[in-house]
Amino acid sequence: MTRTSKKRSLWPASSSGTIEPKVLVEGLKVLFPDAACTLDFKTPFQCLVATLLSAQCTDAKVNKVTPFLFEKYPDAKRMAEASIEDIETIIKSLGLYHAKARNVLSLSRTLVEEFDGEVPFDFETLLKLPGVGKKTAGVVLAEVADRPAIPVDTHIKRVSARLGIVKEGTEPEKVEAVLESRIDKEEWIPFHHRFIAFGRNLCKAMKPECERCPFRDYCFYLRKASSKAAKKSKRGL
Ligand code: SF4
Repeated sequence: MTRTSKKRSLWPASSSGTIEPKVLVEGLKVLFPDAACTLDFKTPFQCLVATLLSAQCTDAKVNKVTPFLFEKYPDAKRMAEASIEDIETIIKSLGLYHAKARNVLSLSRTLVEEFDGEVPFDFETLLKLPGVGKKTAGVVLAEVADRPAIPVDTHIKRVSARLGIVKEGTEPEKVEAVLESRIDKEEWIPFHHRFIAFGRNLCKAMKPECERCPFRDYCFYLRKASSKAAKKSKRGL
């Protein structure tokens, strides 16, 4: 799917009880007005590496290893000369560190050989770099090139399903298309940060804090839980 073919709106109508895009955008502004990217980096290259390292891992964990990694290997040229064993040692506390170290080294070498050590600010070109998927490319372009996008991580995927915006299990790429189809483009980057903050701090995977959630009236997850509880009590369980 190309970036330009993602325009079909699939966000269910509010008549079905689904939250209106405006209600969600404005509600998140109140909840997390200052939400921002929580990965630490100083350059586009460091943003790319940090984002790649954050796959299936928390940003807080990544921020613990990157100060040392970037002090030793601050740019693509220096990283391209590192040994895989040294990168692995530094990032060992992160999951999937063998594959991540291989990708960091390989993408650094590609950047040096093909882009003079610079990160290309082009979505399709970024996707050709080792280990760089659509989410990573979207995050990098949003963070360092101010290119609007709503890259979907595990939090956005989960909360979008709970609010009935998409069906559970919908692929991240499709979730992104649905969100981008109904949210104003100038809101995409701040919305992305705020929606992640909402999933990370309030609509948590294990114990969502529903009692202080302003979106309770629209929540399909809550409705499902209530109807399950009602059925149980009817059966006297
Ligand atoms: S009511 Fe609970 S589950 Fe639903 S969106 Fe809010 S925090 Fe998440």
